[in-house]
Amino acid sequence: MKMNQFLKVSMCVAFAALVLSACTKNNQSADKPAPPAAGEVSADVLKKISDMGFSTTDVHKQGDDYLVEGDILLTPENFSEVVTSPTIRIAETEQYRTNNLVKKLPRTISISISNLPTVYKTATINAINRFNALNLTLRFKFVGSAGNIQVVGFNEGPSDGFITLGSSGFPTSAGNPYNQIRMNTNSQAYGTSPEVGYLTSVVEHEIGHCIGLRHTDYFNRAFSCGGAASNEGSAGIGAVRIPGTPSTGDSTSFMLACSNGSDRSYNANDKIALRYLY
Ligand SMILES: [Zn+2]
Repeated sequence: MKMNQFLKVSMCVAFAALVLSACTKNNQSADKPAPPAAGEVSADVLKKISDMGFSTTDVHKQGDDYLVEGDILLTPENFSEVVTSPTIRIAETEQYRTNNLVKKLPRTISISISNLPTVYKTATINAINRFNALNLTLRFKFVGSAGNIQVVGFNEGPSDGFITLGSSGFPTSAGNPYNQIRMNTNSQAYGTSPEVGYLTSVVEHEIGHCIGLRHTDYFNRAFSCGGAASNEGSAGIGAVRIPGTPSTGDSTSFMLACSNGSDRSYNANDKIALRYLY
């Protein structure tokens, strides 16, 4: 999940008296990551990313993986997978699964955290409790170490007006959840004293990817991220809309590509999607 720095600045103005120190930095710091070199992502790879239904805007190569839509790591395995399952659609915006879901249900997935401040652990436990309150066939439990999903930190400042709040990936073809959630410890992501509800919402979002949820606003990231409209690929073909959900946008989903800085949890449509899948 990402946050737009311009939105963040405007929020900072509104709360200037409270959080001035967290807002005074801009993104001109020397440690700003360099943009990817021209040609780093080949046209062939971009075509595959588009065919998989993801945005080809702002694709970053990370080792053997590609980071798309701000916070989703696509692995070599993802690129070799063949789409065989229908996608599901909720509202006109999308709340649909990836090719793979977590299998062998009912099942409990363990989550651990390491080398992060206590507030991140509290947020992870809160996110687990919120998910379990949905009473699905998939559940989560917190463990001290070596969880099926491991929450780790990274420190990265803003780039191109956006800062990455956290990232993760999609389930494996064997039906296991993606095994890592990365949370940004940079003070420009959550401030020097992160608010636990905000952190919880980002952990919830990244868990959503780990079990197969894509961005709700894949069709147009400008919906949550602002800026120019950019359709996130062509995977709408074969989409099945869940009956009873609206045909308008879904402005409060926890799986929107960009955060609005609030504690955004499951809305009614998110719950319908999760109950449909699990
Ligand atoms: Zn995301």
